[in-house]
Amino acid sequence: MNVLFVASEAVPFSKTGGLADVAFALPKALRKENVDARVIISKTFDLPERLEKSENHLSHFYVDVGWRKQYVGLSEIEYDGVPYYFIDNEYYFKRDGLYGHYDDGEKFSYFCRSVLESIRYMDFKPDVIHFNDWHTGMIPVLLNEHYRHDEDYKDIKTVYTIHNLKYQGVFGPDILSDLLSMGHDHYHSGGMEFHGGVSFMKSGINFADAITTVSETYAKEIQYPFFGERLDGLLRHRDHDLYGITNGLDHDIYDPRKDPHIIKKYDTRGLKKKRENKLHLQKELGLEVNENKPMMAMVTRLANMKGLDLIEHVMDEIMGLDMQFVVLGTGEPHYEKMMQYYQSKYPDKLKAEIQFNAPLAHQIYAAADIFLMPSLFEPCGLGQQIALRYGTLPIVRETGGLKDTVTPYNAFEDEGNGFSFANYNAHEMLHSIERAVDLYRDRRAWNKLVQRAMKSDTSWKNSAKKYIDIYENVMNR
Ligand code: ADP
Repeated sequence: MNVLFVASEAVPFSKTGGLADVAFALPKALRKENVDARVIISKTFDLPERLEKSENHLSHFYVDVGWRKQYVGLSEIEYDGVPYYFIDNEYYFKRDGLYGHYDDGEKFSYFCRSVLESIRYMDFKPDVIHFNDWHTGMIPVLLNEHYRHDEDYKDIKTVYTIHNLKYQGVFGPDILSDLLSMGHDHYHSGGMEFHGGVSFMKSGINFADAITTVSETYAKEIQYPFFGERLDGLLRHRDHDLYGITNGLDHDIYDPRKDPHIIKKYDTRGLKKKRENKLHLQKELGLEVNENKPMMAMVTRLANMKGLDLIEHVMDEIMGLDMQFVVLGTGEPHYEKMMQYYQSKYPDKLKAEIQFNAPLAHQIYAAADIFLMPSLFEPCGLGQQIALRYGTLPIVRETGGLKDTVTPYNAFEDEGNGFSFANYNAHEMLHSIERAVDLYRDRRAWNKLVQRAMKSDTSWKNSAKKYIDIYENVMNR
């Protein structure tokens, strides 16, 4: 089975969010299951010198973007056992940042068109094109409109994954003729039309053979108006072709047994070493060095969806508990200032590191006892899964992927791998924090829970198999 995985970003070449992690880890996991999965991304970066030598230029050609003819350089490289194709066009891609430019509609119309055209120049014929997020949403539309007559394209199936429904790519209706070489009948027939514009996201949902999103719960939630971003009706309509598959974690990158960023490596039998990571971090951050103080952490974008309003509401009560709180994050100025204010109010208990720092993030996952993630909504969430793997017990709100990956601790049945609360309510969150801090004093029960958390299945293996089932399903239609 041949699968071409299309994304605007992929680790290790470019990353702004979780999509890049999936674009790296899922194709790798699919290849372990004997799928010939390859990735195609826009070349928005310069390759590091060590990789430059192995880049192979396949071809260059021109594609139609409406009335324009635009250059495409196509190259390939193998990284970590996975073949990657790069679409190179300096005019569109050599810019500061990946998104948010005045001509995003044109840029991603170009990207969708050049992905389809590139297939002619590969020694690889995909059975399935797996495309991701709004930037690639026009792929099934362009495939139907401009390529189906061609033998190489006529049987290709499409699977669309929504990583975040909030970002949709909606532009004026003139993009149909101006950028996509299509007639306005497509606007009037409704499949692409969205509140007076043309939507990449809606087109992807409407024209893909199957749609997936990144957790089972989020797949249900987006069929309700609160999470549905005005597409809930369409998603309900496509319910039979909509699947939720929880993202896994790349176990080579996140592994406390061999993580190069942490000072003491550990596994489930060496929790004393985990505590040494805590003592080290306490010292580094200028907190009291005391292994008996529970340390709670957050590593997060400081964005509204991450539940920061709940924290703001009860921060004084949290600081009244016998614990330490470490926050690593950047984002909205209001929340950055809020964290800095509370740090100055409680300098012995709270450390707010306002920066993006991957090595420090790894050290925090290894050092902390509790990981707080009280999101308003969360399509999947990586943070709580990393925390589980590092034996840092997550406290989450029961939404999206948080609900699917964290099972609340149940003392009577001796079950669970963390703590959770249902409602978006600051005192419910506070109560969960209090429960965790209380349990921390019962070291035997705590350690048992930590060991169970570390053994939670966060791998890609099962999820990769679920994707393969979907590929098979659409190929047999
Ligand atoms: P989202 O994709 O919505 O930001 P996720 O939990 O899915 O949330 O993924 C966030 C990823 O980014 C995690 O790997 C987390 O550790 C990392 N991260 C977030 N903020 C920082 C930061 N300030 N420094 C380092 N890593 C961060």
